Amino acid sequence: MTSLVTRAVILAAIAAAIAIPVGILSRPWHGWAVFCVGLVLQQLIHFRHFARLDRWTRNPVVDASLEGEGAWDDIFGRLYRHEKDLRQNIAQRDHQIAMLIAAGQALTDGVVLLDTQNSIMFCNTTAETQLGLKIGTDRGQSIVNLVRQPEFVSYLEAGDFARPLTLRPERYKDRVYAIHVIPYAGNRRLMQIKDITQADRLDQTRRDFVANVSHELRTPLTVLSGFLETMQEIDLDDEERRRYLSMMADQSRRMQSIVQDLLTLSSIESAPPPDNDIVDMVNLIDKLRRDAEALSGGRHTIAVETDGRGDLRGSEPELVSALANLVTNAVRYTPAGGKITLFWKTSPQGAEFAVQDTGPGIDPKHIPRLTERFYRVDRGRSRDSGGTGLGLAIVKHSLNRHQAQLEIKSEVGVGSRFAAKFPAHRVANT
Ligand code: ADP
Repeated sequence: MTSLVTRAVILAAIAAAIAIPVGILSRPWHGWAVFCVGLVLQQLIHFRHFARLDRWTRNPVVDASLEGEGAWDDIFGRLYRHEKDLRQNIAQRDHQIAMLIAAGQALTDGVVLLDTQNSIMFCNTTAETQLGLKIGTDRGQSIVNLVRQPEFVSYLEAGDFARPLTLRPERYKDRVYAIHVIPYAGNRRLMQIKDITQADRLDQTRRDFVANVSHELRTPLTVLSGFLETMQEIDLDDEERRRYLSMMADQSRRMQSIVQDLLTLSSIESAPPPDNDIVDMVNLIDKLRRDAEALSGGRHTIAVETDGRGDLRGSEPELVSALANLVTNAVRYTPAGGKITLFWKTSPQGAEFAVQDTGPGIDPKHIPRLTERFYRVDRGRSRDSGGTGLGLAIVKHSLNRHQAQLEIKSEVGVGSRFAAKFPAHRVANT
């Protein structure tokens, strides 16, 4: 593999080797002429290769079109291999970048890469939706010009990213984001946007729940301690003392009921899936009817209508407590003289247990909220009848654990119908 220079020297030497004898044997200028023709030919060959190289460098295609003779062939071969390696490296890099982008897109969190000036270099589609960005047009734009919420702008400008920013975006008022900014590669920033709406709601529910429990327990406690103070400070006659003690007993019973219902709720929540006991519905409905009669004390008409022979499959204590709750509510809320009917019906699609009353009925606006903890339509009436506001929450939870739905239909002044609808696989012995 001789170099281009060596080859040029060899060719010049060959031309000289031919030209010198010609010059000696003929005339000297004949020799010079032969030598010059040799050099010109050599130059023409070079020009042809230069032209080919010039063409190829304008559009370097990696194929066999770049071929040459002699030393040019080596040069072209090296160029060709270099171009090929370069293209392979670029293709590999492109693939790696595409994979990185795909990984960024696959993240469920929003991701935005910012340069040192807070200009957007990249963002995934989640971040586009969350912040209302469009990477096609927003690349290179400063993010604070696009997300102008003051708390976001000042968070980014303050540069203290030890704690994430909690942002309620203006475009989606019902959503909550936790924005983490992670500095990297000098002063560049990676922004991770987590949608924490669900966690925030749960947190809010937990806070409301604690506030509700405290409130529910504080009222009877305040009453109790008031009575205790009075009894300590004032000499009461026997009659008054009995009355006070009876009222104190009522308050402590109320607290006991609340605590009992809270314990029931929390045990259902943390319990494993319900057992598959067979709950004998003929017996259960008979028992519910007798309990209703006992609670009613003859103030209501209690009727039973069944056209199903099937039994229920599930946790017996949970199902008994849920269905009994519906019956107890009907008795508690239906004024004297009203009628309460217990229904039990099975079909190939499943089974339905329902309690219908001729009570006061419920305004439709309250119905979706009845199963919330401590939600009552009429707080005073619920309390007077010994309610805790947790009954329907327990019912809904127990039914859900049995894949059953609670359906509430009610009309003010006419009455209410609470139905527990069970799927076919929860019905046995049909
Ligand atoms: P409570 O202990 O207050 O009865 P529940 O969770 O059992 O709590 O019921 C929630 C609310 O639903 C009650 O406070 C009451 O306002 C309403 N409610 C439940 N059952 C009936 C019914 N049969 N008739 C009218 N209102 C009812």
